[in-house]
Amino acid sequence: MLIRLVLIIVFVLSCVFLIRKYRAMRDQKARNKTEPKILACADCGVYIPESEAVRYHGRVYCSSMHAENHEV
Ligand SMILES: [Zn+2]
Repeated sequence: MLIRLVLIIVFVLSCVFLIRKYRAMRDQKARNKTEPKILACADCGVYIPESEAVRYHGRVYCSSMHAENHEV
């Protein structure tokens, strides 16, 4: 009888522990999924997401055409 009670308590505690761990992981994933970074073109100043930006000599451009404008 007492063993059964202990087993139930252990089971409940492990469930609580797993739920907390799952929630912590879920929250961390949500935090990592942030908004895309917006950057300004060094030539025309238009705002573009970081994934579409063209990087050239440490500067950010909206297109390869604008990057070539600054090529010296
Ligand atoms: Zn541009």
